[in-house]
Amino acid sequence: MKTKQGHEVSSKKHARAIEDAVAGRNYMVHAKYLYACNKCKEIEPIYLGTGVEGPDDLRAEGLYIASPFGGPPCKECGGQTSHVFFGSDEHFELTSAVPTGALCFIIPKSGINMRFFNSSVFCGKTIRANEAKK
Ligand SMILES: [Zn+2]
Repeated sequence: MKTKQGHEVSSKKHARAIEDAVAGRNYMVHAKYLYACNKCKEIEPIYLGTGVEGPDDLRAEGLYIASPFGGPPCKECGGQTSHVFFGSDEHFELTSAVPTGALCFIIPKSGINMRFFNSSVFCGKTIRANEAKK
């Protein structure tokens, strides 16, 4: 299967096309999902960076990586978190306005983790907003 740009899906060239489309906007976000801990039920919002599930223009071109269903360990108890309340997903214009310390799924400047590209494991990076940007 090929992308609209003619690259084999999941190939290095496909990943590079995504990285190029995202370049300079790695830390901007376009959506907010809620993740809940399966042990203590703590809910934490996670923002999606450019190229993670969207925004719509990149999604239409196939230039995005999937957001993970399972989130990072719960900050309260270390339990497993997962995407919940899909009806509460928020989508908005790309913005750099992310609350300090908020979790974000992004494509880092170092690029997509090819080991996990198009697998069930997140191939981007999970960061807290406004922490060191690597
Ligand atoms: Zn928890």
